Order: sequence, then structure tokens, then C-alpha cells
Amino acid sequence: NSDLQLQYQITKFGEGDRLLVARDITRLLRLEQTRQDFVANASHELRTPLTVIRGYLETFLDQELPRPLQRGLGQMQQQARRMESLVTDLLLLSRLEASQHISDEHPILIHSLIRQIHEDGEALATGRGHHFVLELDSEYDLLGQENELRSAFSNLVFNAVRYTPDNGTITLRWQVDSQGGHFSVSDDGIGIEPMHLPRLTERFYRIDESRSSASGGTGLGLAIVKHVLMRHGAHLSIDSTPGEGSTFTCHFTPDMVVPVRETDAG
Ligand code: ADP
Repeated sequence: NSDLQLQYQITKFGEGDRLLVARDITRLLRLEQTRQDFVANASHELRTPLTVIRGYLETFLDQELPRPLQRGLGQMQQQARRMESLVTDLLLLSRLEASQHISDEHPILIHSLIRQIHEDGEALATGRGHHFVLELDSEYDLLGQENELRSAFSNLVFNAVRYTPDNGTITLRWQVDSQGGHFSVSDDGIGIEPMHLPRLTERFYRIDESRSSASGGTGLGLAIVKHVLMRHGAHLSIDSTPGEGSTFTCHFTPDMVVPVRETDAG
């Protein structure tokens, strides 16, 4: 049967004896595929009705309306926006899960990407007095899928903005050493208790449900970061102290790092 998927495990014992266990995981993989297809189709199907609802709400809100009606419709509009972000993130996540590796690797201009993300972060932080610091190694670029890396890096910056009280400092850093390239986002915000760290990149895992949803997150941000990095052969590390702040670092292997071409610099 060519569709049969087996998982092997070899255990050594005694003087050169080996035990080979083959496990049939065909059904498991098929179930996982069904789950992924379902999420992708459901998110796609939810998109159209949501767009219609949002459209009507916007038209109604343009009219002169009694205060209670205005308030109710405003709330509905806010929740519809939240649902749209959820659907977008669910679709993105199911696309990322559909294949394990990025198809083609282009050098991305990590410096301009970080500058754009910095601008988006500043826009989100408008009126909150956050101070942004950029520390970029100007000699090296990164190989990767630009849109995916933009989603991953933006999620880290948006989280830093959302989980840092007003007037905080947020640092974006791109560093290269013998271990590879490292992009990190540090904040001096609320921090994370160590017990939560192992589960933080799970879908919908949240430390403080009310705070997270109030600040506009979907609960899928770090799951997206994890999948994007996995597809780049990279990984995420989290260093955090409650009450002092957090640093999220994306570690890329040395073969993903390339020197900046003269024409791209600056
Ligand atoms: P959410 O949309 O809830 O922010 P994420 O997957 O992006 O979802 O993050 C998961 C949880 O990790 C958040 O709910 C929050 O509790 C915690 N978290 C993420 N980033 C930070 C940060 N910079 N500082 C403190 N907590 C954070």
C-alpha cells in the first residue's frame, strides 16, 4: 500500500541488540489533514458573510442615529473587525501548515523590512508614548519569504506594544554572529511568568484572556510566528521576567544569512 505512513523507533539494549518498532500513523496523518482542510475551508467561507455585515454596519453608522442604536452598532462593528482578524489569521495559519518548507528563498532586505515594521508599530502605539530603538547589523541580509517574515516580525512588535504600559521602550535588533542571524524584539512591559513559556506558541493560549482580547489580539500571533520560523529552519526563544519585560528572538541558521549587496545598503 503506497499510502501507508510508518513511523520507526529503534531502541538499543544489551550487547548490540536492537528493537525496531514500526507504528502505522496513516490514520493520524489523514485526520490531521482533514482538520487542516476544515479550518482552511471554514475560514474562507466565513469571509464573505463578514464582509457583507461590515459593509451594512458602515452604511448604518454613517447615518444620524439615536445614541443607544449608535452604541450597539459601534460594538457590532468592533466585534466584526475582530472576527475578520481571526479569520485572516486562521487562514494564514492553515496555509503555513499546508507545507513544511518555504518554496523559494530570496534574499530579503531585512533592514527595510524592519524599518517598515517599526513604522507600523509606531502607528499602533500612537498616543501611548512608547519609545522605539533600532539596532541593526548593516552588513548582513536574510534569506526568506518576505510576506511570511513580515507577519512573524509584526506579530512580535504588535505584542510588545500591546503588553507594555504607556511610555515603554521597545527595541528591534538584528545581529549576526557565528551561530547565525538573530532578530529580536525586547520590551520593558508586563513580562511573563516562567510557567507559561512552554505553552505560549500554542493556538489560542493566553495568559490573561480579558487583557489579550481587549488589546485586539487573536490568540494566534505566536502560533503564526512559530510556523513561519519552522518553515525557515529557524526557531524562537523567549526570555522574560514578570514586571520587567520580555525578549522574543528569532534564530536563523548561518546558511540563511548573506552579506548585504553594495547597491542595497542604506
Ligand atoms: P494574543 O493575540 O493573545 O496576543 P499571541 O499568540 O500573540 O496571542 O500571544 C499569546 C500570549 O502570550 C498573549 O495572550 C500574552 O498573554 C502573551 N504575550 C505575548 N507577547 C507578550 C509580551 N511581549 N509581553 C507579555 N506577554 C506577552
